[in-house]
Amino acid sequence: MARKPVIFGNWKMNKTPSEALEFMKGIEEVLTGTEAADYGIGAPYVDLDVCVKNAKNLLIAAENCNEKDSGAYTGEVSVPMLKEVGITYCIIGHSERRTYYAETDAACAAKAKRLLADGIIPILCIGETEAQYDAGETADVIKNQLAGSLAGLTGEEVAKIVIAYEPIWAIGTGKSATKEIAEDCCKCVRDNVKALYDEATAEAVRIQYGGSVKPTNIAEYMACPDIDGALIGGASLKVDSFKEIIDATK
Ligand code: PGA
Repeated sequence: MARKPVIFGNWKMNKTPSEALEFMKGIEEVLTGTEAADYGIGAPYVDLDVCVKNAKNLLIAAENCNEKDSGAYTGEVSVPMLKEVGITYCIIGHSERRTYYAETDAACAAKAKRLLADGIIPILCIGETEAQYDAGETADVIKNQLAGSLAGLTGEEVAKIVIAYEPIWAIGTGKSATKEIAEDCCKCVRDNVKALYDEATAEAVRIQYGGSVKPTNIAEYMACPDIDGALIGGASLKVDSFKEIIDATK
């Protein structure tokens, strides 16, 4: 079965609720709901309500969650809270969270399990540092991060998730991976899912490339057999550039 392409913006710590509303009003006019791909935006917690209320065809993701349902965890947001707001996707394990907030593979696995229990699709981010890339360790990093971040998930669960392969050296640097490197690494992700589960799970899981994706280069990534979409930071912040990304892929 063909995999449906999935393209998400990731606003990171950008946009107040009024700025988010302005974006939503601008972007919805280009989406009809009949596109061949899924399009969405990952937004800060405080923007989620306004995004969901103003989304007709755009999918809305949180950028993080806590795996516990409630309790004394000051500053955290649980999956039941996100579910009630109405989001359908959640980014987990982004390299910025792994680097600045010590998010581990085990935490990603727990978050993924909890999200799936409430029907929210995790977008699990993995990827190597520049030093790891230079040392030829990319395949090992992918293997280890996947084994740790998918631990405890069934094949049926993994078939539903999105995995974003994002080399850290390409994030926010303008130095995007070549389509050959991106395809090789996304294929490596799929091969690891096959080794951990089975062929059917590997064929079903949707894999994104992320790292300096722009309106001018997205089409060449989307043409690669193992790349099913993209996770886009900087180029998702402006309505015009996100519209160009939609136009280049629909
Ligand atoms: P970028 O960010 O597109 O600005 O490189 C990608 C990401 O962090 O998901």
